[in-house]
Amino acid sequence: LDVYSLSIQVRSGKRIEVKDITEEVQAKLEELGIYDGVLFLFSLHTTSTLILNEGELGLMEDVERWVKEAFTRHDYQHDRIDRNAAAHIAASIIGNSLVIPVERGRLALGTWQRILHLELDGPRMRTLLVKVIGRRKEE
Ligand code: ZN
Repeated sequence: LDVYSLSIQVRSGKRIEVKDITEEVQAKLEELGIYDGVLFLFSLHTTSTLILNEGELGLMEDVERWVKEAFTRHDYQHDRIDRNAAAHIAASIIGNSLVIPVERGRLALGTWQRILHLELDGPRMRTLLVKVIGRRKEE
């Protein structure tokens, strides 16, 4: 087994935004040539999260709406210095990492599962760390 590290940049275009990054992650996996193993995806931020769900456009907009509706207050203590406390709280609950199995050189996702980056305080440039532990195909 070997361990590989790389990063992915995600640019968000609005304050709350769901973006499907599955193809980008799959492309990185193919660059590394890992055939069998585990991929760990980690956001290096406190207001950027990762979710695994359906990449249907309506549902992605529903997730954005749910976040906006659930986090409408701006009177938290942290808002006095940064005005984004709700984004930090949402990120704490949603989580900033995913572990995905790798089978036969592909992300072993279910039929409807997609890797979605959920921006909570954009627009910004975000860096995701990718760690892959696995092995290349035996020749
Ligand atoms: Zn803050």
